[in-house]
Amino acid sequence: MTWDDGRLKRLVKDLVCMESPSFDAEGVEQVELRLAEEMDAQGAECLFYPTDRGPVLEVRRGQGGALLLGHADTVWPRSTLQKMPFGDAGGVLSGPGVLDMKAGLVYTLAAVSQLDTEVPFDWLVTPDEEVGSEASRTLIEDRAHGAPVVLVAEPGAAGGALKIGRAGVGNFLLEIVGIQSHAGLDPEAGASAIRELAQQILWLGSLENHLLGTTVNVGVVEGGSRPNVIAGQAKAQIDIRVRTSKEMERMQETLNHPPHFDARTSIHYVGGFSRPPMDLRPEAARWFDVAADIWQGLTGARLDGLNVGGASDGNFTAALAPTLDGLGAVGQGAHAVHEQVQWDYTQPRIQLIRSLVEQAFRNGQEGTL
Ligand SMILES: [Zn+2]
Repeated sequence: MTWDDGRLKRLVKDLVCMESPSFDAEGVEQVELRLAEEMDAQGAECLFYPTDRGPVLEVRRGQGGALLLGHADTVWPRSTLQKMPFGDAGGVLSGPGVLDMKAGLVYTLAAVSQLDTEVPFDWLVTPDEEVGSEASRTLIEDRAHGAPVVLVAEPGAAGGALKIGRAGVGNFLLEIVGIQSHAGLDPEAGASAIRELAQQILWLGSLENHLLGTTVNVGVVEGGSRPNVIAGQAKAQIDIRVRTSKEMERMQETLNHPPHFDARTSIHYVGGFSRPPMDLRPEAARWFDVAADIWQGLTGARLDGLNVGGASDGNFTAALAPTLDGLGAVGQGAHAVHEQVQWDYTQPRIQLIRSLVEQAFRNGQEGTL
């Protein structure tokens, strides 16, 4: 069967209509089963590795081929489809997870299905990318070791640009225990966990470095019990993004030795960096040039490479093998209610992925790159 627009769109629609939020093992498994069912690549085997977030699907053929990455989970809870249904307005497809990254899954599937049978490849579809990839990280890193190139079908940026640098992401929880007391009768006996939290938040803000791209966001706070009680406890959830390994080390080290504003409270930072930053290494830069040449041939347009704040599984693999990220669908509104895919990028994206897998195979035969 050929991969014409009709078939591609039908499959994207099917996948969008299978709701698959992270932590919903059944939903992500349904998506993976559908992909396995549609798999056209002759001689490829489909394997399912169970995890408590749902299975990881691996589709592979032969040895030493490019590693392709995708994820079946989305950030959208079940029933999102009721207020945000799948839409096909000809040039634009919309719906939860259509851009990030159900269309990318379909593109990868179509790309590997069109390869000659002698071309090896290894494709992982994971269940938990949107929540840090804890369950699939080991498998991803294992397959990336020794892969000639890793191709990640996360959404591309404007104009189809690839993502050549990604922030490293740290998630921390700050827990503070104070001393509770009556705010009117016995204020001196109390030590406010909330006041300590407020000072910690200001200190955290001072650690940002916009020049180096380091950001700190205290996104969730809670604490206290009643207005007339000096707060006995308070908590904050913190998201930290860094562009370089050096900044990652600086932030980690700094949070290991935080200041203490009221010594009667106890403060405790827990957490760490779940993904290291991804930067463009020389080998990946050579692959980017290969991709840019292919793209130019396909579309006549220049391919850009961007640094972005969002992270992906490419953050893990970039340290292990040359990684090209953002090869998937092009559109706008990932994680937002206007999430959509610009359909006219579809065929060039599929051909780009396919050509890169073929190039990895040819390099292997010629012993180059
Ligand atoms: Zn994604």
